[in-house]
Amino acid sequence: MRVIESISEMQQAAEQWRNERTKICLVPTMGYLHEGHLALARKARGLADIVVVSIFVNPTQFGPGEDYERYPQDMERDVRLLTELGVDITFAPRAFEMYSQGYQTYVEVKELTQPLCGRSRPGHFLGVTSVVTKLFNIVRPHAAVFGEKDFQQLIAIQRMVRDLNMAVEVIGHPIVREPDGLAMSSRNTYMSAEQRQTALRLNRSLKKAEQLVAAGERRGEVILARVRGYLEEGGGLRIDYADLRDPDTLQEVTLVKGPTLLAMAAYIGKARLLDNRILTPPSIK
Ligand code: AMP
Repeated sequence: MRVIESISEMQQAAEQWRNERTKICLVPTMGYLHEGHLALARKARGLADIVVVSIFVNPTQFGPGEDYERYPQDMERDVRLLTELGVDITFAPRAFEMYSQGYQTYVEVKELTQPLCGRSRPGHFLGVTSVVTKLFNIVRPHAAVFGEKDFQQLIAIQRMVRDLNMAVEVIGHPIVREPDGLAMSSRNTYMSAEQRQTALRLNRSLKKAEQLVAAGERRGEVILARVRGYLEEGGGLRIDYADLRDPDTLQEVTLVKGPTLLAMAAYIGKARLLDNRILTPPSIK
């Protein structure tokens, strides 16, 4: 496996593969890799001749007071894991090269980035969609894999690609979980053993909501009251949001009549955790 830091070197390699009609798949990450990231890379491996995993902690998607400065990093371990997996390229650009002096260009997806994480992290998605555009321009992938854990991110990027006619197939990958159900995240390391137990409530509350829907409950208000109650029971967790939304438009849903996204974000100590699930009423399954 080759590690590339230079943007021009990455572009030259991509140009050559394109000329040879070699299929390229990109998996963008912020590093500190876990099994979730590796599952995305494995999926990419099955889709293309060349797999590029980018590792870049993108400063423009972090707000003031967020964890940019202390985001966990372990490049040596990441490179070892990606080598073992048979990834071709780790692209790890430097922030000063990605954002040279005078940088002022952003790509904005409007409505889809307003609710949920967009509300509590203003500017976050502007940073995400802009850096993904840059990565697409540098790596020139035919396909890119993103995790459904960041559901809003995935559909915002799919929207961006459609709206701007980018020739990249954006593929989602289901959430990868720890054996106890916690969605894997680089930020899970911020939690103590006790906080990690508290964090299990996220996935459990999603399961409870699924059971309610399976038992015939359709009222969003009732489902969300149960979910929020369960999340907060026992303390140690502050809900950022727990919402029912249309999985295509992210419009609020009041009655679960078709597939509905239950998305949540919660603070546990220093960690802000995300989880989600699509609830599907049995009649239409
Ligand atoms: P990150 O490094 O957190 O920016 O994540 C990089 C990519 O991995 C994104 O597309 C995430 O959605 C995806 N990802 C992170 N954690 C998981 C997980 N537990 N399951 C599936 N995908 C994930």
